[in-house]
Amino acid sequence: MDDIRYVSFEELQQFVVLAGEKPFRAKQINEWLWKKGVGSFEEMTNVSQILREKLSNSFSFRRAVIEVEAKSSDTTVKFGFRLFDGKMIEGVLIPAGDRVTACVSTQVGCAMHCAFCATGQMGFIRNLHFSEIFDQFILMNAKALEYYGHPISNIVYMGMGEPLLNFMNVMKSIDLLTSKEGQGLSPQRITLSTAGITEGIRKLADMDFKPGLAVSLHSADPKKRIHLMPVTEHNPLDELQDALKYYHQKTGERVTFEYLLLNGINDSQRDAEVLAAYCRAFPVKINLIEFNATDSPFQKSEPENVRRFIQFLESRNMVVNLRHSRGKDIDAACGQLIKKNM
Ligand code: SAH
Repeated sequence: MDDIRYVSFEELQQFVVLAGEKPFRAKQINEWLWKKGVGSFEEMTNVSQILREKLSNSFSFRRAVIEVEAKSSDTTVKFGFRLFDGKMIEGVLIPAGDRVTACVSTQVGCAMHCAFCATGQMGFIRNLHFSEIFDQFILMNAKALEYYGHPISNIVYMGMGEPLLNFMNVMKSIDLLTSKEGQGLSPQRITLSTAGITEGIRKLADMDFKPGLAVSLHSADPKKRIHLMPVTEHNPLDELQDALKYYHQKTGERVTFEYLLLNGINDSQRDAEVLAAYCRAFPVKINLIEFNATDSPFQKSEPENVRRFIQFLESRNMVVNLRHSRGKDIDAACGQLIKKNM
């Protein structure tokens, strides 16, 4: 049986009419699905009992379920979601003042194999359907209200997986989160993070992508980056630069580079110089990220090196932020999302 959320609105309309109901019932059902974000037919209270029964005889409802919750001492919470086929993914809520940021996954596992990232070690299992990305938001939003008294204010596509390799579902989920038929959030509150899939970046540029775009750079030196991020092999740094230039021309937006500081690997003065040179092509903001321990040989940079790195970039008039990680004690921080004991 098809999931009710896998059928198009037109198909739903056809179904409703064949069931002997008025076409506007389809609109009502659609509202329950995407505006109210329900997880079952029973919750659709303005739909007649008979139609609800017909729906449940014809369609399944594959809502994800929160199965694991881990609370960090810093109030970050990590959720393990069980999907209809038994697979697990993770999402994280990160509160800061009035803001609550939700980090969502886009794939089960990941094909990128970044040397420093725990998710990469799982390998790629499958893409998430847009309804599974949407479920993470709906379920975590209820938790955000319960735990922090605020709904989710920002969403980052930075959980497990590479969003631009699940393009259609990611775009559809953003549409459902931002459209007035869906959750009506401002696109400016959403950020998509990519390991640097150039073809996907060009596609975003062509569709005049409204959310923020972040690129995990981690090194602007081709030889170093290919070791850290094998994705560089088919998406070389110069092509990435061209794609980002194109993105900037088309959208007028500034791109954020994420840069993980790894001790003795990419944190020298020379690395900072190469980075600054690479960034000259278009306006960027740099988020320096503290490395979170994973099952890998890497270590975070010494505070002195971090300070020098920042100082150098600032001396070149670059916009730099230092990001301290949250949720480390529960393995909820960047790069720590992995199937553990599941
Ligand atoms: N595939 C996408 C989104 C997921 S990764 C991407 O690559 O951007 C989210 C961010 O966490 C990326 O910047 C990633 O490089 C970073 N990250 C991965 N492992 C990490 C670790 N061990 N410590 C800190 N950040 C890490």
